Amino acid sequence: LKKYFPVKGPLGPLGGVKSYVKAVNDVSFQLHAGETLGIVGESGCGKSTMGRTILRLTDPTAGQAFYGDEDIFQLSGKELQKIRRDMQMVFQDPFSSLNPRKRIGQILEEPLAIHSIGDTKERTERVMEMMHKVGLQVDHYFRYPHEFSGGQRQRIGLARALVVNPQIVISDEPVSALDVSIQSQIINLLQELQAEYRLTYLFIAHDISVVRHISDRIGVMYLGQMVEQAPTESLFANPLHPYTQALLSAVPIPNPQRKKEQIILRGEIPSPMNPPSGCIFHTRCPHAMDVCKQEAPSQIEAASRHMVSCHLYTKP
Ligand code: SF4
Ligand code: MG
Repeated sequence: LKKYFPVKGPLGPLGGVKSYVKAVNDVSFQLHAGETLGIVGESGCGKSTMGRTILRLTDPTAGQAFYGDEDIFQLSGKELQKIRRDMQMVFQDPFSSLNPRKRIGQILEEPLAIHSIGDTKERTERVMEMMHKVGLQVDHYFRYPHEFSGGQRQRIGLARALVVNPQIVISDEPVSALDVSIQSQIINLLQELQAEYRLTYLFIAHDISVVRHISDRIGVMYLGQMVEQAPTESLFANPLHPYTQALLSAVPIPNPQRKKEQIILRGEIPSPMNPPSGCIFHTRCPHAMDVCKQEAPSQIEAASRHMVSCHLYTKP
């Protein structure tokens, strides 16, 4: 998958396009039914754009996204509508997308109306059921968005995503705006709902501790690329990519006996308009070799289901 955003410059041979921000730059992965795949990386690494592109909230520049046998990017009309029901998104701040003049009940019934699910009575019943599942009270049905706390708003966001009975939920920083105590409530709720409705999650976040808690597998993104993917235990026990090693070294460990050194990366993240040649991480990598500047490493399976893109594992 690739998603480039054009950057406007003066009108010239490129028709006013100066260059491109390479937000998602050749990412490949699988999402298995029933699992939670966590996507982690610093802000600007392309993880949100990747989630939005898969849902067709923005058009891809290149690539394919298969849901079963169907390429989501080739669908239109009724088929696309069906996918839009099956795949829902939860955002960091659901409040910004809730109409302040509508009651919560109305807001939650809208997706059912859009997808022509049930009659008026059935929609109300379904909304009541979902509100109960996410821990809201019956009388909340008649309240307005501004009457809710951050945690409750995220419960509303979850109810709105789940009311149409989706298969896949892509959540983008769903707890980042919440207090730590509320974060764990929402994470627990996400896990309960996943078990009850057999949901598949793509969980995007910058906080690796949160991602670790909820994910079966984790993909690590840097500068628009997925540099490592592994089952959660495997990633934490044996991080292979130097970027992942640096990310994990900053996470506090529960056992003070097992001291570890924090790896401080030199330099800034390069601009996604002009990513480094060869390995995109070579400008900051403590292990960079000559080959890293010339050649982009290809992804290899270094251990069981543990994928990494780094020359250290291919060119010893
Ligand atoms: Fe570092 Fe080279 Fe591996 Fe890139 S390929 S992460 S620069 S060692
Ligand atoms: Mg983001």
